[in-house]
Amino acid sequence: MNVAGEPSFRDSVDLMFKRAAALMDMSPGLQEKIRVCNSTYTVRFGVRLRGEIKTFTGYRSVHSEHMEPVKGGIRYALSVNQDEVEALAALMTYKCALVETPFGGSKGGLCIDPRAWDAQEMELITRRFAYELIKRDLINPAQNVPAPDMGTGEREMAWIADQYARMNTTDINAKACVTGKPPHAGGIQGRVEATGRGVQYALREFFRHPEDALKAGLTGGLEGKRVVVQGLGNVGYHAAKFLYEEDGARVIAVIERDGVLLDDKGLDIEDIRNWMTKNNGLLAGYPRATFSPDGAAALELDCDLLIPAALEGVIHLGNAARIKAPLIIEAANGPITFGADEILRQRGAVIIPDMYANAGGVTVSYFEWVKNLSHIRFGRMQRRAEEARSRLLVEELERLSADQGLGWQLTPNFKQKFLQGDGELELVRSGLDDTMRAAYNAMREVWHGRQDVQDLRVAAYIVSISRIAAAYQSKGL
Ligand code: NAD
Repeated sequence: MNVAGEPSFRDSVDLMFKRAAALMDMSPGLQEKIRVCNSTYTVRFGVRLRGEIKTFTGYRSVHSEHMEPVKGGIRYALSVNQDEVEALAALMTYKCALVETPFGGSKGGLCIDPRAWDAQEMELITRRFAYELIKRDLINPAQNVPAPDMGTGEREMAWIADQYARMNTTDINAKACVTGKPPHAGGIQGRVEATGRGVQYALREFFRHPEDALKAGLTGGLEGKRVVVQGLGNVGYHAAKFLYEEDGARVIAVIERDGVLLDDKGLDIEDIRNWMTKNNGLLAGYPRATFSPDGAAALELDCDLLIPAALEGVIHLGNAARIKAPLIIEAANGPITFGADEILRQRGAVIIPDMYANAGGVTVSYFEWVKNLSHIRFGRMQRRAEEARSRLLVEELERLSADQGLGWQLTPNFKQKFLQGDGELELVRSGLDDTMRAAYNAMREVWHGRQDVQDLRVAAYIVSISRIAAAYQSKGL
């Protein structure tokens, strides 16, 4: 996706870092220490498949160990390379600091087309990759905890967890070696939806501040806003579905690998996802919207909100000037290059930056890791006690009402909601919502509070760099 004259993904992240760091009172030495990637391990390993030995190349980068374990997803794609993994690891460092998850930043990747191999073959490959990382402590509950990213999901995380447990049979915390596992294998409710849910919570918080929305020329809330989404994978699907089903946003275009579906009246996200599942991940042929094979052009549609949720570098020097959306939320990592960011900001677009926008994933991963270490499901101890206390209150109110002849009636819907204690999913969503609100307000304080800060990305970097600097300083560096 690189356009001539454009820096690489890692250089783009570095330039964004430097733009913010230049506004901070920090020694050049400490800036350099925070910016650089500490280490990258490259592994090449063979797996016997289809009668011959196939060699695969994988990476695990550790960007910053100011807090441990370090955290970051594992990506499966043919385009994976060291530059990309290091850029993503750096973003993890900044993201974790911004949303106050107590981790350093890391990322992994395997050069593979996951659609080219069946489930059994994928398991062999994943276990072998995991073995290489585990034996070097690049997967370890106390040191380095991966999660899903593009091309991986619950299935791969379950295999990795099992591989770790086989190699560390007496580690009582083995399950905490990786997050994003299925609930039956030590996962947590709400992790699959978490990144998309975080995008929704981020947008809700943004629209809670009318003066912020006005900076993008927008008024009101999410209701009726015209949305373009790129990528209907884990992140894009959940974000689009929640915005459409719960907030009344109108998704007018969905862009995928093979093109775009368009409908100005609004698309049914669940219906499209079902179609894709049955049609090899393709949009073409979907009967209830207009299809065009030119997906990239749809990024330039007239809309209120653009959600790039597929991959990096899709808004670049070549198309930035034609992007019309006044508000862009970076659900993917690095979808806007450094040069494109400059063009969009000059035009007055508001960009909700990746390190904040897609932090829902790592936030709920943090909850999962804590759950694994505490060996108990959230809500197990208090749910019924909460219900009993609420019931006491409701019964007392009803008794008073009857005694005094007041005729008060609680609506059945209210009563049922009020009486229900919170289970794991409700607690996870509450923790995520709280995190997204707090992080937005930390960014916002800098955005509005400093004359020299014009945008949310610089504000996000300033918040997170100052927290990382404080962590290094307290270590005596
Ligand atoms: P995914 O593999 O589930 O989905 C990616 C989707 O993008 C797929 O449907 C794919 O077909 C589509 N796609 C690929 N190339 C495309 C193109 N050129 N145009 C349009 N669509 C294209 O991946 P994901 O987990 O949803 O991750 C998406 C982005 O979000 C990545 O940048 C990832 O780093 C970031 N992210 C993911 C998580 C997570 O929890 N999964 C967390 C934080 C950030």
